Amino acid sequence: MTTQTSVPTLTHWIGGEPAAGRSGRTAPVHDPATGEVIATVPLASEEDVASAVASAARAFPGWRDTSLARRTQILFRFRELLNARKDELAAIITAEHGKVLSDALGEITRGLEVVEFACGAGHLLKGAMSEDASTDIDVTTIRQPLGPVAIVSPFNFPAMVPLWFFPVAIAAGNTVVLKPSEKDPSAALWLAELWREAGLPAGVFTVVNGDGTTVEAILDAPEVAAVSFVGSTPVARHVYRTATAAGKRVQALGGAKNHMVVLPDADVDIAADAAVNAGYGSAGERCMAISVVVAVGPVADPLVERIAERTTRLRVGDGRRGCDMGPLITQEHRDRVAGYIDAGRQAGAQVVLDGRDVEPDGASGGYWLGPTLLDHVTTDMSVYRDEIFGPVLAVVRVETYDEALRLVNAGAYGNGTALFTRDGGAARRFQHDVEVGMVGINVPIPVPVAYHSFGGWKQSLFGDTHAYGTDGVHFYTRGKVVTSRWPEADVAGVNLGFPQNR
Ligand code: NAD
Repeated sequence: MTTQTSVPTLTHWIGGEPAAGRSGRTAPVHDPATGEVIATVPLASEEDVASAVASAARAFPGWRDTSLARRTQILFRFRELLNARKDELAAIITAEHGKVLSDALGEITRGLEVVEFACGAGHLLKGAMSEDASTDIDVTTIRQPLGPVAIVSPFNFPAMVPLWFFPVAIAAGNTVVLKPSEKDPSAALWLAELWREAGLPAGVFTVVNGDGTTVEAILDAPEVAAVSFVGSTPVARHVYRTATAAGKRVQALGGAKNHMVVLPDADVDIAADAAVNAGYGSAGERCMAISVVVAVGPVADPLVERIAERTTRLRVGDGRRGCDMGPLITQEHRDRVAGYIDAGRQAGAQVVLDGRDVEPDGASGGYWLGPTLLDHVTTDMSVYRDEIFGPVLAVVRVETYDEALRLVNAGAYGNGTALFTRDGGAARRFQHDVEVGMVGINVPIPVPVAYHSFGGWKQSLFGDTHAYGTDGVHFYTRGKVVTSRWPEADVAGVNLGFPQNR
């Protein structure tokens, strides 16, 4: 149900100011807690993308040559402004995404960490120098920016995912073209204004709104040197293939299906809290959400019981009303997720909690689905195999640790996983043997801090460089090695032999 009254028309952000879309194509932006259309977003054409990329390309030489000291000052100002005004941004995120306000603030806080990391640009970009590598010869490694780089982000973290990338890219001297999700585009535009206020020169940060067609135009643009993509696995794979074939540097982060293994010796209350927080937080629309609990041996019955008991206390509703869990992103997605409940039941799973029974504290037009718990799930069921991306937690029962490990390692994705135990030896074995990029030991959502790097394995990441941290610095710079000699007049002379150390 939607009501189409007069709503604001959003823009792109090109050359340091709002730029109206010229394609004639638009999409509605909904408030998922009411179902109402709250804005119209332009979907960029090739022409819009060309103008955005040209602006980023024009800004590049000046930004590359801006001293590290000046770049860092702007980053610090951006950090201060974002921290001071994060409530404004959280309200925008909740209005367009639906996640509850405290969760929206949480994603901004995690994004701020990356800005703080990038404020150390001077140290991060420091090269290496070997004096007298050979007699009177010095060798210096420097890292230089790539040029205009593109970021394509998903709906589920409209602020944090762009913030994983652009602070580091900008700190390193690149210019950035961000294509946010068309479902919640306003956070990116708000961040663009903040950059202007922080003193970032026009053209260094560009926002081009749009959909898949827009992304194709970005991938085709010859000036774009690198692409950081985050989204579903089929699109990540496509972006990786297309952009690498065009000679661009690419990191494409894809979908996930994260397992939480609970050993018989674990503290069941701590494990149940973790499963509820990581399974139903942000309505399960997190790439690091736990979607499968692997219960080993006798822990299964008390664990399922305690998860179910906690879930009944959760308040589902409008994110502005102090609820625990908000709506899903669209009606279509909500219906798709709800469809898995019957699919699970028909395949033989036991439906312990059916989210369709929820009574939300919110408008009737919202895209509501409550916490859903499926027990006795097996690996042949679609509820086990598919990335559902909603508040549906599947419990798989196994008998041994080895069986649990085999299950996790057989998964198609390898984004995150967690082990709950009191046994240090088992934990150490798990972190060594598990084929997943980010591992939590008694930590259900192990998103690395900004000075480490974020990235999954297998179908959760195409490319070899993770986001932010030192991987991020590496991704947004290329190395150059200078070998130099300042000869005295008496060492000159012709010698056609291969240069050797002496
Ligand atoms: P999505 O793949 O539908 O869209 C992601 C971005 O790609 C959007 O900007 C969208 O406009 C664009 N896009 C959509 N279709 C396209 C196409 N055919 N060609 C080119 N571009 C296209 O993903 P989503 O629904 O916005 O986000 C949810 C997905 O993102 C989930 O699968 C989730 O696991 C994943 N995700 C992964 C991570 C991670 O770190 N691995 C983080 C967040 C989200």
